[in-house]
Amino acid sequence: MSIRARLAIGFALLLGLLFAVAALPLQRLEALTARTADIVDRQARLAILSQRANQHAQAAAIGLLNLMQTGERAARVPLYAAMDADIAAADMAVADIEMALLNPATRANIERIADLRQRYGDLFQQTVELIEIEGAAAARRHFEDRTQKVLNTLLFETQALETRLLETMQAELEQLGAAALHARRLVIFLAAGALVAGIAMAWTIARSIVVPVREAVAVAERIAGGDYLTAVANGRRDEVGALLASLATMRDSIASREERISRLAYVDPLTGLPNRTRFLEILGMPPAGSRGALVMLGIDRFAPINNALGHAVGDRLLCQIAARLCEVQGKGCTLARLWGDEFALLLADVDCTAAARHAERILAALRAPMMVDGQRLDIDASLGIVMYPRDGDDGATLMRRAQRAMALAKRRRAGYGFGDGDEGEPAHEELSLIGEMREALARGDFLLHYQPKLDLAGQRIAGAEALLRWRHPEQGMIAPGRFIPFAEQTGFIREITPWVLARVIADAAQWRRDGIAVVVSANLSALDLLNRDLVGLVRRLLDESSLPADRLCLEITESALMDEPELALQHLNELAALGVKLSIDDYGSGQASLAYVKTLPVHELKIDRAFVDGVDTDAKNAAIVRSTLLLCRELGLTVVAEGAETPAELAWLADNDCDLVQGYVVARPLPLDDFLAWIEAVAPDPAVLA
Ligand code: C2E
Ligand code: MG
Ligand code: MG
Repeated sequence: MSIRARLAIGFALLLGLLFAVAALPLQRLEALTARTADIVDRQARLAILSQRANQHAQAAAIGLLNLMQTGERAARVPLYAAMDADIAAADMAVADIEMALLNPATRANIERIADLRQRYGDLFQQTVELIEIEGAAAARRHFEDRTQKVLNTLLFETQALETRLLETMQAELEQLGAAALHARRLVIFLAAGALVAGIAMAWTIARSIVVPVREAVAVAERIAGGDYLTAVANGRRDEVGALLASLATMRDSIASREERISRLAYVDPLTGLPNRTRFLEILGMPPAGSRGALVMLGIDRFAPINNALGHAVGDRLLCQIAARLCEVQGKGCTLARLWGDEFALLLADVDCTAAARHAERILAALRAPMMVDGQRLDIDASLGIVMYPRDGDDGATLMRRAQRAMALAKRRRAGYGFGDGDEGEPAHEELSLIGEMREALARGDFLLHYQPKLDLAGQRIAGAEALLRWRHPEQGMIAPGRFIPFAEQTGFIREITPWVLARVIADAAQWRRDGIAVVVSANLSALDLLNRDLVGLVRRLLDESSLPADRLCLEITESALMDEPELALQHLNELAALGVKLSIDDYGSGQASLAYVKTLPVHELKIDRAFVDGVDTDAKNAAIVRSTLLLCRELGLTVVAEGAETPAELAWLADNDCDLVQGYVVARPLPLDDFLAWIEAVAPDPAVLA
C-alpha cells in the first residue's frame, strides 16, 4: 500500500475515532438533559396538582363550616356556588393526577384517593343536605363524625402520594446520576482508547515510513562510500520502493560510469593493459615487507619500424607484443604499458635468479617472428631489472633505476641487465650543476681545451681534439665527466654541441688561415647523432667558415650508435658525404666488434686508454692493441692510441706502427692560447717529445 494511502487511512481512522468520542457523550448528554427536564416537569406538575386537590378539598370544608354558621338560606346560596367550584377543582386535580400517574406503584394510592374523594363528596353532599333539612347542629355533628374524618384521610393520602411521588422521582434522578456517571466513564474510556489507538496507529504508520526510508538512506550511504556490489533489497510497491528502485538504477549507472572513467584513467586504450598512472599507483603501495623485481622493457628499433611502416602497423605490432607479454606474464606479475614502446612488469616475490629467468622467457617470446599485415617482423627488446627493496623503496627511484638499467642493456645489446643501485645518479652538487648549466652556457663559462694528436710516422702534429671545460665561478675548472653525462640525460647536450661545433670550426678556420695544418676533432653524443638538424648545422658552419670538411673530425662512441642505429647511421653517412672525417672514440670499452665498425663510414679508430695504459709492459694490452692495429690497417682505418702517458708507451706505439698518439706524453689538453703557443714551440720538431 502506498504511503499516501496509508496516511489517508490513518488520518481517517483517527478522525473517525475523534468524532465517535465527541458524538457519543453529546448524545448521552442530550438524553440525560431530556430525562431530567421531563422528571422536573412532571414533579412540578404533580406537586401542583396534589396541592391544588388538597387546597380545594380544604376550601370546600371551610365553605361547609361557613355554611353551617350561615343561618339565612339566601346568604348560603352564593356559598354553595363557591363550594361546588372547589369540589370540581379538587376533582379535576385528582383526575389530572390519575391521568399523569400511570405508574403501577402509585396506582393503588390514586385509586384510594379517588375513592376517598368520592366518599368525601358523598358525605359533603349529605352534610349540605342536613344543613338544609335538619339544621346546622345535625349537620355539624355529621360533619364532625364522618365528613371531617374522611377529609382528613383524603388529605393524608394525597400528602402520602405526594411524598411517594417525590421518592419515586428522587430514585429516578439517582438513576440518571448513575447513568451520567456511566456516560462519563465511557467517555473517558473511549478517549483513552482513542488516544492509545491513535498513538499505536501513528507509531505503526511512522514506522512503516521511517524503516524503509532508513533503508534507503543506508543504500544511498553505501553508494556514496563506493559500494556498488551490495544488492538493494526491494520488495516494496510504495513510494519508498520507487525510491529504492531509483537508487538501484543510480548505483548501477554510477558504477558503470566510474568503471568507464577509471578505464579511461587507468587503462591503455591501445593494448588494454594498465597504463603508467595505474602502474605507478600499484608500485607505490607494495605490501609492507614485500620484495620482488621491477622490469622495464623497451622495444629495440621500434621508432624506425614505426616510421617506415606507418603508425597503424606500429600500433598493431604493439598489440601483438602486449599479447605475447601477457602469455608469459605468469602469476603474481603486473604488466603495464608505460608509453610508446615501453612496458613495465612488477614481479612479486622473486629473487634475482627468478627475475633473470623471467626476463629470458620474455625475450624468447618476443624474438619469435611476428606477422603484422602479412609482413614478418623480427623484433628484439632490452630489459632493465631492479630488485626491491634492495635497489630502492619508492616507486620513482625504482622506475628511474630500471629505466637506466634498460638503457644500458640496450646500449650493450645485452638483452637484459640489472640496475646498479644509486651508481650513476647525480649527487647533490651535480644536481645543482645541472640547474646552472643553461646559465653557464649563456654567460660564456664554457670553454674549449685542445689536446694535440701526434702523427708518429710523419712526426708532426696532425690533429687536436677539442675538450669541453666549465669554468665555474665557485668550483673552478670542471671536467666534462662531471656534467656531460647529465647534459646527455637531460637533453641539454643538444644546446651544448652546436656551441662546441661553432667554436671548434671557427678556431680551425682561424688556424688554417694562420697556416696551422691540423685536423680538429669534436665529440658527439648519442643524442647529437639522432638530431635531425645536426648534418645541416655542420654543413652551414663549414660553409660560413670556409673550412674544408676534411679539416673536421667528429668523434662518436660505439654506444652512441646503439639507441637508434638506423637513424644514427643515416646521419653518419650524410656527414661522411659532406667530407667530414669520422672517428670511433674509446674503442674497446663497449661491445662493438671491428666487423661492425667496418660497416660504418668511419675513417679513424681511437683505442681506449684502458688498453694503451702499460701497453709496453702488459702483454694482454699489447696483444689487443697490436691485433687492432693490424686489422685497422687491413680495413684502411687510421688508429689513434688514447691516453699514452709515458715515453715507453709512446715508443712501443711507434714501434708497432700506430698512426697517431693522443696523451699526456704528447701534451695535456690546453687552453686555446697555450695550445697555439705549444704548437709554435713544438711543431717544428715533435721528435723532442720522444
Ligand atoms: P674522450 O673524447 O675520450 O677524451 C679524451 C679524454 O682523455 C679527455 O678527458 C682527456 O683529457 C683524457 N686524456 C687524454 N690523454 C690522457 C692521458 O694520457 N691520461 C689520462 N689519464 N687522460 C688522458 P676529458 O677532457 O676529461 O674528457 C672526458 C670525456 O668527456 C671525453 O672523452 C668525451 O667523451 C667527453 N667530452 C669532452 N668534451 C666534450 C664535448 O665537447 N662534447 C661531448 N659530447 N663530449 C665531450
Ligand atoms: Mg674524444
Ligand atoms: Mg676517448
